[in-house]
Amino acid sequence: MTATTGHNNTVSSICCYCGTGCGVQVTPLGDGTVRVIGDDSHPANFGRLCSKGRTLGDTTGRPGARLLRPTLRLAKDAPAQAVSWDSALATVSDKLAAAIREHGPDSVAFYLSGQLLTEDYYLFNKLARGLVGSNNIDTNSRLCMSSAVTGYKLTLGADAPPACYDDLELAGCVFIAGANMAYAHPVLFRRLEEAKAANPDMKIIVADPRRTDTASIADLYLPVLPGTDVALFHAMLNVMIWEELIDRDYIAQHTEGFAALRQRLREFTPRAASELCGVHEDDIVTAARWFASSPATLSCYTMGLNQYSNGSDKNAALIHLHLATGHIGKPGAGPFSLTGQPNAMGGREVGGLATVLPGHRDPANAAHRAEVAALWQVPALPAQPGLSAVEMFEAAAEGKIKVLWIACTNPAQSLPDQALVRAALERVDCVIVQEAFAGSETLAYADIVLPAATWPEKDGTVTNSERRISRVRAALPAPGEAREDWRIVAAVAQRLAATIAPQHVAKFAFADGGSVFAEHAATTAGRDLDYSALSYAILDVHGPQQWPFDGKVGRSRLYGDGVFPTASGRAQFLDVAWRTPADKVSAHFPIRLTTGRLRDHWHSMSRTALVPTLTRHVEEPALVMHPRDMQRHKLQAGELVKVRNKRGAIYLPVQADDSLRAGVAFIPMHWGGAALGGQGINALTSRALDPQSKQPELKLAAVSVEPAKLP
Ligand code: SF4
Repeated sequence: MTATTGHNNTVSSICCYCGTGCGVQVTPLGDGTVRVIGDDSHPANFGRLCSKGRTLGDTTGRPGARLLRPTLRLAKDAPAQAVSWDSALATVSDKLAAAIREHGPDSVAFYLSGQLLTEDYYLFNKLARGLVGSNNIDTNSRLCMSSAVTGYKLTLGADAPPACYDDLELAGCVFIAGANMAYAHPVLFRRLEEAKAANPDMKIIVADPRRTDTASIADLYLPVLPGTDVALFHAMLNVMIWEELIDRDYIAQHTEGFAALRQRLREFTPRAASELCGVHEDDIVTAARWFASSPATLSCYTMGLNQYSNGSDKNAALIHLHLATGHIGKPGAGPFSLTGQPNAMGGREVGGLATVLPGHRDPANAAHRAEVAALWQVPALPAQPGLSAVEMFEAAAEGKIKVLWIACTNPAQSLPDQALVRAALERVDCVIVQEAFAGSETLAYADIVLPAATWPEKDGTVTNSERRISRVRAALPAPGEAREDWRIVAAVAQRLAATIAPQHVAKFAFADGGSVFAEHAATTAGRDLDYSALSYAILDVHGPQQWPFDGKVGRSRLYGDGVFPTASGRAQFLDVAWRTPADKVSAHFPIRLTTGRLRDHWHSMSRTALVPTLTRHVEEPALVMHPRDMQRHKLQAGELVKVRNKRGAIYLPVQADDSLRAGVAFIPMHWGGAALGGQGINALTSRALDPQSKQPELKLAAVSVEPAKLP
């Protein structure tokens, strides 16, 4: 797999949507558009693409879709004016310097995206921590993955998914929990469908409040109530213990904490758990038997576990099932968290979260801070904890953030509790929005707009769900004056350094993305993810590589030797208690509203809405309810309803669907206020945080539904 195929300037690159990280071949057609086909040689997809990947070529060369020039707004009520890059960069640098001088480094915050490339992420991090002097740098990956990160770190000792995509074909049992792979990771789902067709003995279990398309291939479907998965997983482990299905040798040799957890599990009989999680007790027993008895069991999970105030507990309770049965570190087995965004994993590697430093280091650890300071040749890194995504906007609403730099994400649509988010964006003195697409609702709050290049105009790297680093390559020049994200950051950093720390100017001078990657890769030396021997040159010649990478080969699976990167070398069972989600149903708000993706749209649709064939799959948002609930609330299909709770209200048509449990309703996450006449779905969602991961509870809001009274 080389940089170009030699035909018509075709380049090998990666699809820019989900964390599967499918390889694509991109051919510029000479008119600002490209042709995209799957890359047969890429080990994520072997040529397969889903509907979104197949239509990537239709998203380029769209007049009016892109931001083409920097703009500046001199006052909050003034119109934005086009300015030169020189003027925009100077203004950003001046605003940062003034905020640091007058209010301190923590008056500055950076809110980034799992769609940035690793090189972009790395320089943002170096700017925030190494030059500005603040840990206030976080990302929209906080909304997707941080509970998975916490789950891995607390149980296995490191943020490292131990399995790989080939395990989909090698598993005897696949347990899919809180993941609609058919929509969110379609190519992985297709691999699983093909594996099941080839192996009729394979058992697939799906746990989800909705009987999604993913459940269509399930041998056992578990309609778990939103937020109650801990009861399900604890009861499964309890059954495994009763029936002697656990691997006592593995537990004794490679783990700690099982005795304490075992005490806890006594109360989680299948009957008791059934009352909590809504899954029939017989099905809990069957799931436990299949999971434990298979020669190799793989779990695939994502937002349905993570996006809850008990998301870390759910992750840990699921990982316990693998540790108790020894289904980890061998072909076809392991707890496999699927990342949502194309580079959520890369952001975790470079320290793009407030709670992480480069190379999976911890900002609360003085030795780790000193290591990074030495690598960056700065005196010290800040010790003050940084703000996570929701906390950042809460601080902004309180007037504590003076400059907020938002890159490649749309918080005015995608963060929970929109009333607070929009108040925060109005209160910040200077909102900088670095963005490629003109449709972002966050642009309405921007004082400075920096037009960014996007796929397929950027060079760099991403890491997919199986720890595989791939090259992203430019096939087109950026339109107008748009620039690559890392170049914008480097230019601002050099100007800011010239003002506040001239000795650091050269530290942000990079000739190309390969130099940024080389500096980043060096920070991983000696760490669990070590890929310090990896380079653009190796990726260009030998293709994508998994970490850890020893200079010749990456490791496909972790922990095969039973040694874990914890203080004792043993994996940890945690004494996970039962906690209910933060939002409680009540007489006023009796419906459990959950959210999720559609097959053909991506996030806030800045790109997918440009493609008519994708829009046709579902043309408008609707509230989906069980027919019995519609009867109870006297609602007709297609009727406009008001969905309301203590945070907000939205209006949209209602549809009947018995694939949902009664008492549970669903709205797709993609549509914002522009489509719904004011506020999007996140007017209703909760900013209640998981105390360990700081991930908000986007998957559950207690709401009422009533016929809309139109004026
Ligand atoms: Fe792109 Fe994900 Fe579809 Fe692959 S599965 S083509 S990465 S959206």
